[in-house]
Formats: sequence, structure tokens, C-alpha cells
Amino acid sequence: MKQYRTLLFDVDNTLLDFSAAEREALSSLFEEQELALTPEIGQRYMEINQGLWKSFEEGKIGRDKVVNTRFSLLFREYGKEVDGVFLEKRYRSYLDKGHQLMEGAIEVVETLQNKYDLYIVTNGVAATQDKRLRASGLYPYFKDIFVSEAVGCQKPMKQYFDFVFARIDQFSLEETLIIGDTFNSDIKGGHLAGIDTCWFNPEQKPNHTDIVPTYEIQTLRDLINILNGDSPPAH
Ligand SMILES: [Mg+2]
Repeated sequence: MKQYRTLLFDVDNTLLDFSAAEREALSSLFEEQELALTPEIGQRYMEINQGLWKSFEEGKIGRDKVVNTRFSLLFREYGKEVDGVFLEKRYRSYLDKGHQLMEGAIEVVETLQNKYDLYIVTNGVAATQDKRLRASGLYPYFKDIFVSEAVGCQKPMKQYFDFVFARIDQFSLEETLIIGDTFNSDIKGGHLAGIDTCWFNPEQKPNHTDIVPTYEIQTLRDLINILNGDSPPAH
């Protein structure tokens, strides 16, 4: 069994439940606006939001356009004109407070911190991620936190990982493992940076790439078993 020294953890939907934070923020926003959030409207929001992010990924629109128009587009369909920029600001303020833990997150980092150096590697807004990590109780378990906004580039970019590696004590590629749920940023990113990868994949999504993660887990507790050498690697 390979011995690791350094573990790099993603945050959203790995240690903190971002999906739950999103749902809660949406319901707080609707409550504040005195609008009923029916399952149908919730579903329609998801579709509009995903469609906008897709256009962003295709380079057709900017990030600001995505976040500042998603609510105005949604409400227009229901015959209501709203200030999309204002609603986004309110939504963001609720989202920033969301810090629901993923199942087993504290227990796992508490166990692992005795034997490994733990670091956070997350794409996001620095002040927000800092606040959420502190509020969730995760913060003290990590030696350092690398948020893309503060780094100036993001996962899966090689420059992001180079920045992180340069700031880790006694860093070695061979003794480092990244754990995350997003294949592109965490697994492909880690792979391209030359480190081992552990894909946290509770929904058992298919892997459409030819990159094979070093390990694949369905629960965070599985990570402890893998590091103890109790489970065989994925390949
Ligand atoms: Mg994630």
C-alpha cells in the first residue's frame, strides 16, 4: 500500500453539501420575496440556471450574465418583472451562509489529521469559503486553505496545482492524494498535476474519459479504509 503524507480535499459536495446549501438559499430567497417556491418553479430554475452555465462554458456569455439574469428570466416566465441583480445579491448572501456537512465529513478529517497533513483545494470566492469552513467546524483540521480566487487560477489548471505544491511543507508528488467529487476539476486536474486521485462519487456517475482515478469511493468513510490499506485500488 502506498504511503501518503499530504491529502488535498475539495470542499463543495465533498466536505460541505453545496446542493443542500443551494436548495436552502433558493427557498430563503423565495420566502423573502413572498413568492411560493413550487416544485415546478424549482425545477424550472434548475433548467434555466444549467442552460445559462452551459452557454458560459461554451464561451457565449460571461459569468455576470449567468448570475444576474437567471432570476429575471425565471420570473418573467411567470409574468413577474424582477431586478435580477438585486435578487442574485440576496441569493448569494443566503448561499454564503450554507455550511451543511457531508455525511461523515468531520469524523473523517478528525481521524486523518493524526496521520496526514490536510489541505483544502477549492474553486470559489475566498471570503465565502473561509466563512463556510469556519462555521462548519472543518477549519481547524487543515494546515492551509487554497481558494482559487486568492490563487488567481483554478482547478483543473496546472498553474493552480503548482501554486499549491510550492506552499506545502515537504511536498512530494508521490506522497500526495487529492479527494474530490468533480471529475474535471479534481480528478483530471490532479492527474494532470501528477498526483494520485480519489474520486468521491456517491451517485456512481459514469466516467466518460480515459483518465482512471487511482481510487473511487461512495462514502467519505471509505477513504479511511483505502488509506489503511483495507480496500484494493480501483485499478
Ligand atoms: Mg466539489
